[in-house]
Amino acid sequence: MVGRLTGKNAIITGAAGGVGLESTILFLQESASVLMIDVNDTALGKALAKVKSVVPNHDGKVETKVVDVSKEDQIEAAVAHLDSWGGVDVMFNNAGIMHPKDGDSEECPDSIWDLTMNINVKGVWYGSKHAVRSLRKHGKSKGSIINTASMVAIVGSATPQVAYTASKGAVLAYTREMAVVHAREGFRFNSLCPAPLNTPMLQEFLGDDKPKRFRREVHFPTGRFGEAIEQAQAALFLASDESSFVNAHDFVVDGGLTKAYVTPE
Ligand code: NAD
Repeated sequence: MVGRLTGKNAIITGAAGGVGLESTILFLQESASVLMIDVNDTALGKALAKVKSVVPNHDGKVETKVVDVSKEDQIEAAVAHLDSWGGVDVMFNNAGIMHPKDGDSEECPDSIWDLTMNINVKGVWYGSKHAVRSLRKHGKSKGSIINTASMVAIVGSATPQVAYTASKGAVLAYTREMAVVHAREGFRFNSLCPAPLNTPMLQEFLGDDKPKRFRREVHFPTGRFGEAIEQAQAALFLASDESSFVNAHDFVVDGGLTKAYVTPE
């Protein structure tokens, strides 16, 4: 079978969560090999079981590794794990947190600011840096690194999470620079900017608080939150050679949210 990612080795961080799990499934269905990494061992085990039930047969390999993306030695070891596969072709730096104690500048504790930056920004930096090392080590002439930002990196929000927003702004700026620096080597860097999604990250935060939910939903021209699979489809395009001339892009997948003034009633 020839898939859109045939012959490509991918690492997906945060692979036990909403977008990471859907992306793993999709990448495998398109014949990639995938190393699923996540800090949550139990969730990773459950995610692998789901992958195996949804995609029982696939051309590539699938393995898991418990990794905290904010620890460089752990990212380095995960990337080195792919040496025996032929090195990394696609690095999807998707892991991220939005901490419930985040808030406006007065509310956000120092420790939460640092934690958010360590995971959301340093995690992306380490993932990108070691992906480039692997691409060079294996003499590759092309590679795709996808770094997850958010639409809050582009528009401000009156329901603030300043550490989260600042961290995603940093991901956008960092990714753009990496794209320009490595363009002549054939290594593409793009940011993925999702809108609020139906994944555990946001849905656990909103719970059954209807006003809190409506405060966000009303801004969607589509009238609904995004689904993880819709981000995974975008990641698949960026990972594949179909996007060979897409570089340094802020890839916004938001149902039109960031372009809307008044939305339909
Ligand atoms: P999720 O919470 O469902 O999944 C995130 C995964 O990252 C979890 O499995 C978690 O265990 C893992 N993770 C957290 N810290 C980690 C660490 N230090 N090392 C390794 N793994 C770690 O979230 P999601 O909705 O799938 O989000 C994926 C990405 O999309 C995140 O970067 C998030 O910021 C971004 N995003 C999400 C939304 C949304 O509304 N859910 C909106 C915009 C952007």
